[in-house]
Amino acid sequence: MSINLNDQQLRYRRTKIIATVGPATSSEEKISQLILAGANVFRLNMSHGTHDMHRLMSQRIRTVAAQHQSHIAILADLCGPKIRVGQFQAGFIQLETADLITVTTRPVMGEDKLIPSQYAQLHQELRPQHRIFLDDGLLELCVESIQGQDLLCRVIQGGKLSNGKGMNLPDSYITAPPLTQKDKDDVCFALSIGIDMLALSFVSCAQDIVQLKELLAEHGENVPIIAKVERLEALKNSEEIAQEADAIMIARGDLGVELDIEQVPVVQKELISLAKKYAKPVIVATQMLESMTQHPRPTRAEVADVSQSVSSGVDAIMLSAETASGKHPISAVQMMNRIARQAESHAWLHGAFSILERRIDNQSANNPVSAAVARSTAALSRELSVHAIIVISNTGVTTTTMSSARPAAPIVAISPHMKTCCRTNLCWGVIPFFEQNTEQQDPLQLARRIAIELKLAKKGDYIIIVQGFNKKKDLSTPSITTIVV
Ligand code: PGA
Ligand code: MN
Repeated sequence: MSINLNDQQLRYRRTKIIATVGPATSSEEKISQLILAGANVFRLNMSHGTHDMHRLMSQRIRTVAAQHQSHIAILADLCGPKIRVGQFQAGFIQLETADLITVTTRPVMGEDKLIPSQYAQLHQELRPQHRIFLDDGLLELCVESIQGQDLLCRVIQGGKLSNGKGMNLPDSYITAPPLTQKDKDDVCFALSIGIDMLALSFVSCAQDIVQLKELLAEHGENVPIIAKVERLEALKNSEEIAQEADAIMIARGDLGVELDIEQVPVVQKELISLAKKYAKPVIVATQMLESMTQHPRPTRAEVADVSQSVSSGVDAIMLSAETASGKHPISAVQMMNRIARQAESHAWLHGAFSILERRIDNQSANNPVSAAVARSTAALSRELSVHAIIVISNTGVTTTTMSSARPAAPIVAISPHMKTCCRTNLCWGVIPFFEQNTEQQDPLQLARRIAIELKLAKKGDYIIIVQGFNKKKDLSTPSITTIVV
């Protein structure tokens, strides 16, 4: 078996890498190294840090990205109705297995055997026998009885519990609103610093996304929304969520506590199929290279997980603690890049990514014509060994649809809007390209020039140009043009 990583067709990695920034990667130097290592999207996690810190980070990212002439996207991740424990006098407590302890919604400081919860309705919505998981499921409690605002719980699995750790309540019906006041403030802030996309945590139904869209509309904005699928409710409503959201994230961290952990890999498969059906980008997140938070090299199982995700054709793979607070943030991105490139080379060798080809359902796609054009372009790209697909796109919709068909050649998404360039950087196989006055230029000339500039094609290679889409159906004249450079 020979895998040629230097093949010209593989010059650009198709799968995108999302790196969460944090204390380990806050300097301009680290941001620069993350970009050089292959990060395409930076995630600002609103669950941690102050607005001032996030503003500073976004300024640094923009500055460094401009130096690298790279269309890095900034993703602001909203906490949503994530339930957390409060603060402890000593910053943490130690829970002993089999002890009886109290969880309370009274506004108190936590201490030995007393855990305050930030969620005011907790005592009304939990019942005896319901489980409470703490710190991503590392600790487990079981409610024995409820007295006023206090829940008496047995410690099933003890351990250290520190300030603000997450609480998962898989047995309970939680009525917390999908957008908390903090989320609303965070949206306002995120828009003010010009982020490129938003993720919403703990989505339960399509209506949650509609609410966020309405909030954005009040600000006169329509940034893409990524629905984080991380609770059972969301799985029940996954069809409507996939239709309403602009992309979906398989948030395996919380999902692995809200569901039985062994269900996570099969749920991942189902969600990838669903994203295919609706031609939406899909992200696999959490613990992809977790051991690299401590060690310079990942485990074989982690490598297999990243490789498998890439082989299943997802748009993006994400790093969380690995880059935000880990000991080896740059190596983690480098490692992810290497694994992705190897897996892609394999998929390339076996039929130019034809195993990733997606049958976008015309009925399910937002626009059946663009879905059909995308599918035909993908087929053509394989038949003619095309070296680049050039898409001239204003809003990025054509680009996303084109990407979702998983063609053989990279998709160069030319846009006169910087925002569109950054947004499309999340999508599989897309190389964003900023170009002013695209309308005044001959598209064929433009396509030839850019394909050569990006070293995608040389004299004699085929390239395809897809253009002519318009939001107004009657003005839309989509065409596929094949030319030789
Ligand atoms: P988080 O989301 O890192 O914001 O919790 C991802 C996940 O739960 O997997
Ligand atoms: Mn989560």
